Amino acid sequence: MRDFSRDHRWLSINTATVRKNRGAEQPLTAIIEACAKRGIRAISTWRDQVAAAGLPVISKLVKDHALELSGYCRGGMFPAFDAAGIKAAHDDNRRAVDEACELNAACLVLVVGALPGALAGKAIHKDIALSRTQVSDGIAELLEYSKANRMPLAIEPLHPMYAADRACINTMEQALDICDALDPGRSGALGVAVDVYHVWWDPKLEAQIQRAGRERLMAFHVCDWLTPTTDLLNDRGMMGDGVIDIPKIRGWMEDQGFAGYSEVEIFSSGNWWQRESAEVLDTCIARHRSAV
Ligand code: ZN
Repeated sequence: MRDFSRDHRWLSINTATVRKNRGAEQPLTAIIEACAKRGIRAISTWRDQVAAAGLPVISKLVKDHALELSGYCRGGMFPAFDAAGIKAAHDDNRRAVDEACELNAACLVLVVGALPGALAGKAIHKDIALSRTQVSDGIAELLEYSKANRMPLAIEPLHPMYAADRACINTMEQALDICDALDPGRSGALGVAVDVYHVWWDPKLEAQIQRAGRERLMAFHVCDWLTPTTDLLNDRGMMGDGVIDIPKIRGWMEDQGFAGYSEVEIFSSGNWWQRESAEVLDTCIARHRSAV
């Protein structure tokens, strides 16, 4: 297992972690400059942050600083109520692939979606099995386009508390079942993003990481699970402040040959987003060395 205690060469910052500086939205350009200044070699950005700054601006900045993208957030949200909705999602996902290519991202992360309407507050139906079929069909269709553009797709299973509104794929096992069905040859075009926040509790986690193997382990996201958790979305903890044995999970990943970045992804409206983002980045570096 790689020794992270001496430096932060394998640290990536998911830019949502410092999306806010003392509670105020922070431009992606400023986030990138702050990361580059600290010798952080990789980031993962969100489409809305890129759109706000302009894709050409961010693309140039990333190249100027020789930054890598450990992933691009995000594609997905496949299920819809009707054919027009399915098509709109597909078109949007193709644009996400194009943007990920322009930024030379390691993969496009997929948050697959769940019951149509639920995220807006009212689910249009209760048929989660239908949503899962639409997810699988949507990934199959997108895979043709992403393969042609050489952009790997990484399915991110989300914690079951999001099964209604954000992702009806909730375990590594489910995600890998889709990978096996759609890419049985393990071409490297389809895999998983392992986010410890979502999967740490799973009794099958170690076995499923082994099942995934090197070709399908495309990203590793870290933060921590706080007790108590006060918000289902925006109360993620800094590594070392919660109950997740992150080094143990990283060891399982590396046993399979994973040698990529450890991406810090913290949504924290009540704590870290209220602080100076300089302090947050410095803490990420310190915790990457001591708790990842
Ligand atoms: Zn994640």
